[in-house]
Amino acid sequence: MAESVEVLPPPRAGRVQADLLDVVIVGAGPSGLSAALTLGRSRRRVLLLDGGPPRNASVSAGHGLLTRDGMHPADLKAQALADLAPYDVTVCPDGAREVRREPNGAFAVRVGQDWHRTRVLLFATGVRDVLPPVPGLRERWGQGVFHCPYCDGWEHEGRALAVYGCGQSAHHLALTVRAWSDRVTLICDGDPALTPEQTRDLRRVGIRIRTEPVRHLRGGPLEDQPVCVTFRGAPPLSVDAVFLAPEQQQGSHLPAALGCQLSDRGRVQVDDQQETSVPGVFAVGDMTGAPQYVVQAAAAGMHAAQVINTRLIHAAVHSLGAAFHNTPDDEAEVTRPPEPDDE
Ligand SMILES: Cc1cc2nc3c(=O)[nH]c(=O)nc-3n(C[C@H](O)[C@H](O)[C@H](O)COP(=O)(O)OP(=O)(O)OC[C@H]3O[C@@H](n4cnc5c(N)ncnc54)[C@H](O)[C@@H]3O)c2cc1C
Repeated sequence: MAESVEVLPPPRAGRVQADLLDVVIVGAGPSGLSAALTLGRSRRRVLLLDGGPPRNASVSAGHGLLTRDGMHPADLKAQALADLAPYDVTVCPDGAREVRREPNGAFAVRVGQDWHRTRVLLFATGVRDVLPPVPGLRERWGQGVFHCPYCDGWEHEGRALAVYGCGQSAHHLALTVRAWSDRVTLICDGDPALTPEQTRDLRRVGIRIRTEPVRHLRGGPLEDQPVCVTFRGAPPLSVDAVFLAPEQQQGSHLPAALGCQLSDRGRVQVDDQQETSVPGVFAVGDMTGAPQYVVQAAAAGMHAAQVINTRLIHAAVHSLGAAFHNTPDDEAEVTRPPEPDDE
C-alpha cells in the first residue's frame, strides 16, 4: 500500500524535543488507550495524546464490553489511563496540531509549541457523527437518541421506538431495531426514498412509516420523560428512544494531510496490519471503517501495537546484523557484518 509522501524539512518554529520516541499515539479513545497499554508493556517509549473524550461520551452507560457492561465511558477511560501508570507511557492532555515526515523517515508531531519526534505514528482519532439538523436532536444524542441497537437496544426492549432516516440504511436499521420491539415507527422527515418492495417489507413486520416533516425533538431521559417528536401539521409521536445512522467524518484532518489514502466513504484505509498507505503510519478504530464498538476498537489497538512492536524488534535485530528467518532459504538474503576471523 505504499504511496509517496512529501518529505518536509525539519520544522523551523517551535521547540523540537531531542529524544526520538518509539511511538506517538494520536487519540486516547478505546483504540488508542489499548495500543498504549500493549506498547507500554512491550517496553516502548510512548507519547499518548489525549485530545478529548471518546465518541460515546454523551451516554450514561456503555454496553457490550465483557466484564464492563453498563460502565460509564468516563470511568472506563479513567481505569484505562490508570492501567498505564507502571509503563513508559506519557499521557499529554492535548491534541496533535500538525504532523510532518522527516527526511530520515521519522515523524514530527506538534503539540502546542513542542515538536515530538517519533519512529512510528499511530492515529486513533475516531470519527465525528454528523447529525441531521433537527432542532433538539443533537442535545439528545446518547440520551434518548442512539445509533446502535446492540449498544442501547436492550434498555428499550418492547417499548415504543422510532428510527429516523430514509432510503436503504433506514430500511435496514428499522428492520434491525424491530428485533428489540414490535412497536417501531420509521420517521422519514420527507421523502422516504424507499422502493415499493422495501415499503411492503416494513409494513409486513408492522413498522409504521411517517413522512411528515419533523419540527423538533423534546423531552427524553434527561427530563425524565419519553422523547416527543413533533411534526409540521401532524400529531406528535411519543417514543422511548430514537435510533439513526448518521453520516460520519474523520475525527482529525491529520491523516489525510499526511497523505494517508481514504476510501470512498472517507475512512482511512489500512491493510491487514493496520498500516495506512504511508509507511510507518498506522490507524485503528472507528476511523478505519471497522465495526464501531469499544471492544473492536480496543482489539485493533492491541493488534496495531503488536505489529508496531514487531517492526521495531526487527529493525533493532537488523541493525545488529541479524535477521529473523522463516525458512533456510531466507539465510542467503541476510547481509551480516564480517565475523572477526573472516578478516
Ligand atoms: C451515542 C453512542 C453510543 C455508543 N455506545 C456504545 C456502546 O454502548 N458500546 C460500544 O461498544 N460502542 C458504543 N459506541 C461506539 C464507540 O463509542 C466507538 O466504537 C469507540 O469509541 C471507538 O473508539 P476509537 O478509539 O476508535 O475512537 P473514539 O472513541 O472516537 O476516540 C478518538 C479520540 O481521538 C481524539 N482525537 C481526535 N483528534 C485528535 C488529535 N488531533 N489529537 C489528539 N486526540 C485527537 C478524540 O478527542 C477522541 O478522544 C457508541 C457510539 C455512540 C456515538
